[in-house]
Amino acid sequence: MDIDKLASDIEKIVSKEYISTNLFERIKSSMDVFPYEAERENLPYLVVMPANKDEISRILIYANEHDIPVYIRGSGTSFTGASRYQEPGIVIMTRRLNHFQIYESLNYFECGPGLICNDVSKKLISKGFFLPFAPGSRLIASMGGLVSNNTSAHIIDASIGKPADYILGVEAVLPTGEIVETGTKGMRRIAGNDLTKIFAGGDGIFGVITNIRMRLVPAFSYAYGYAIYDDLDRLAKGVQRMYWEKRPIPLFMEFMEEKTANIGFELKGLGSPGGSVIFFVSIGRTKKEASEHLDLLFESFKEENPLTLRKIEDMDEWEKLWSAREVIGSFLMQKTGNQWSSAEIVSNLERLVECMEDAKNFNKGLPVLGKLDLYLFGHIGSLTMHPGVIIPKDWDNDMKREAIREKFQREEEINLKYGTCGGEWGQLAYRTSFFRRRYGEVGYNILKNLKKALDPKNILNRGVLEGV
Ligand SMILES: Cc1cc2nc3c(=O)[nH]c(=O)nc-3n(C[C@H](O)[C@H](O)[C@H](O)COP(=O)(O)OP(=O)(O)OC[C@H]3O[C@@H](n4cnc5c(N)ncnc54)[C@H](O)[C@@H]3O)c2cc1C
Repeated sequence: MDIDKLASDIEKIVSKEYISTNLFERIKSSMDVFPYEAERENLPYLVVMPANKDEISRILIYANEHDIPVYIRGSGTSFTGASRYQEPGIVIMTRRLNHFQIYESLNYFECGPGLICNDVSKKLISKGFFLPFAPGSRLIASMGGLVSNNTSAHIIDASIGKPADYILGVEAVLPTGEIVETGTKGMRRIAGNDLTKIFAGGDGIFGVITNIRMRLVPAFSYAYGYAIYDDLDRLAKGVQRMYWEKRPIPLFMEFMEEKTANIGFELKGLGSPGGSVIFFVSIGRTKKEASEHLDLLFESFKEENPLTLRKIEDMDEWEKLWSAREVIGSFLMQKTGNQWSSAEIVSNLERLVECMEDAKNFNKGLPVLGKLDLYLFGHIGSLTMHPGVIIPKDWDNDMKREAIREKFQREEEINLKYGTCGGEWGQLAYRTSFFRRRYGEVGYNILKNLKKALDPKNILNRGVLEGV
């Protein structure tokens, strides 16, 4: 590929200052969170930051004419391998698509995909609203990346639903360069075929989202609490009771097994909790209602004999406790100087105790991951567990790759066993193999045929559907 010629062609579409062929930029814009090295032969040719949908459309038309893959990139924090490209191409960074407007009289807001989740959240909070995304990556992940994954992240699905339940419509540039608007500006979501669904949760393979319209969600009142159990089985049984006994489902319910909790608590100067910890954030329209919801929740958890079960009113105390869980992944990395990597095990409700056991033994018997200590935490209210390991940085590249491969393979086996699927991060790339086994070739062909119809030359995010 003549990169200079390519750059000069793209300069006819996007101002020169927003195009980079710099080697460092090309490496940085094609790396993800995985610990293995970038591959020289797969580095992108150039990185471009278009200003609007028309520029994106023209880039895609050009790429189709010249058969050059185009990768759409928010912040590159994907956990599925979707942001580590397997062929060279053009990387479109969405950062300049950063418009934001609240339309209170219409009860929605619109934003560009390049905005950072936390920045959007702060803007909404300042007006009394809530953004229904809460990933651990909120300080870096882009709105486009989150919408394309439709990830509920730490929020419990059964509490307020998935982000796409709030997305009224999007504007997207198709892989061929055509532009489409979906959805509605009304308060009534579409019944029947809603093209929004192709893009919100489309793993980025069907088009480039250039505008997101989301319903405004009034801010909740909160009530906080935590419990400590000397036995993870009892903690899991408390979660089952919550559903079976029809308790008000909280917004967040996080857990850490004892070894992991000890580390998080130590970081925050809290001393050892003496068991596995579960955190509750209940919601209501008023403080009183949120507090009553938490009381009802406690009724179920009390039955499983916790060592401690407490409401927390002091916000300083809560912040300390909550951040012991929130920053655990980063803290484990800081402490060891190595790379954290976890899986996403999702149980069904009936077999949660058994699945917790599988999560505890996640790396047992695995040739590479089995050499490492396991840490366990997760979004237990959604029956999601993140067993993880710290991958030593002095391991060679092949071993690091094998560690990631083993992780996804074991995740696949366990989620197939329980008939579930990942509720975060997206469904393809490293997870394509899971998708094919879970939904069969019939299911996979639906995606392949849709992709072919929208992207006949397989220009956009090539490799994601095919899998790593
Ligand atoms: C520390 C850390 C914590 C994390 N915590 C969570 C968590 O709690 N829950 C969770 O679900 N994930 C989590 N993640 C994973 C990741 O942050 C999310 O998957 C997030 O959605 C990715 O956003 P991004 O902007 O980095 O997307 P990218 O990695 O840039 O892209 C992800 C996918 O979206 C596509 N895409 C991006 N923008 C667009 C667009 N405008 N139109 C169409 N497709 C697009 C890309 O092509 C790619 O396929 C975490 C990651 C890190 C590093």
